[in-house]
Amino acid sequence: MGERLPTNPIRRIGEFAPWWIKCRDCGDLAVMSPDWGKRSGQCKCKNCGALYKIPINRNYARQVVDLPLWLKASFRENVLWAVNGEHLDYLEQVVGATLRERPILNSIFCHLHAVQSSKLDSVCQESAGLAPPN
Ligand SMILES: [Zn+2]
Repeated sequence: MGERLPTNPIRRIGEFAPWWIKCRDCGDLAVMSPDWGKRSGQCKCKNCGALYKIPINRNYARQVVDLPLWLKASFRENVLWAVNGEHLDYLEQVVGATLRERPILNSIFCHLHAVQSSKLDSVCQESAGLAPPN
């Protein structure tokens, strides 16, 4: 697995900050700074000005996936997610190095990129089988 990976070192999820979440009040893109000691995240929305805290699940397996992440896509029994755009690019790099031949994963990344940029280009649309927004 290692030989085709890019040379950058393994990165921890905490290095990607702030996290992108869906605003509780307006549904727009907001940011969250996780406080692991308090198991909570401080959320701030630039769009509506909302400022609030949300709990982070103590269950390690659920702590991230339970958050209202902006970049989240369900796939069969699994949920693929990224905490922000930088993290998404990183994941794609790592996964792409070993699994590039799997079109379904490419579709999911395409979908997540589309969510990130709020628009679908025709290539993504086709490969992911998604309807364009609006
Ligand atoms: Zn908001």
